[in-house]
Amino acid sequence: TERTFSILKPDATKRNLTGAVNAVIEKAGLRIVGQRRIQMSQAQAETFYAIHKERPFFGELVTFMTSGPVVVQVLEGENAVAKYREVMGATNPAQAAEGTIRKTFSESVGENTVHGSDSVENAKIEIAQFFQDGDIV
Ligand code: ATP
Ligand code: MG
Repeated sequence: TERTFSILKPDATKRNLTGAVNAVIEKAGLRIVGQRRIQMSQAQAETFYAIHKERPFFGELVTFMTSGPVVVQVLEGENAVAKYREVMGATNPAQAAEGTIRKTFSESVGENTVHGSDSVENAKIEIAQFFQDGDIV
């Protein structure tokens, strides 16, 4: 079994879609073993997305991620990292497959509803940024 890190982004909380997204996650066989609703600070968002800091959309991304509450989650299951990437769908919702979270719920590449770790190694780093061991059960 494996763990991945997920964020339900501000467009999800703003549109009251966190339960609907969680239903898709659970239906895919992923278990939500840690979950907390937070307001990300600018510093937290900049650290989290530091890998994208030279990209032209970095400022927009940090502004969006701090524009409202997010739900940070730890998901557990077999091949959780790859499975969640599949359930999320392509970064750009216009290119996302039918039935994926981004195809179903997202309105643009910037406001694409969910984040999921892209490797097991990054999942560990990202989980540690937002969760203490005792908060994952
Ligand atoms: P995430 O890391 O959020 O799970 P991802 O791995 O599918 O998404 P990345 O390439 O890591 O995509 O980009 C991180 C985030 O930056 C995207 O989810 C999206 O919100 C934003 N982003 C990516 N490309 C663009 C773009 N061309 N214009 C605006 N925002 C973008
Ligand atoms: Mg990414």
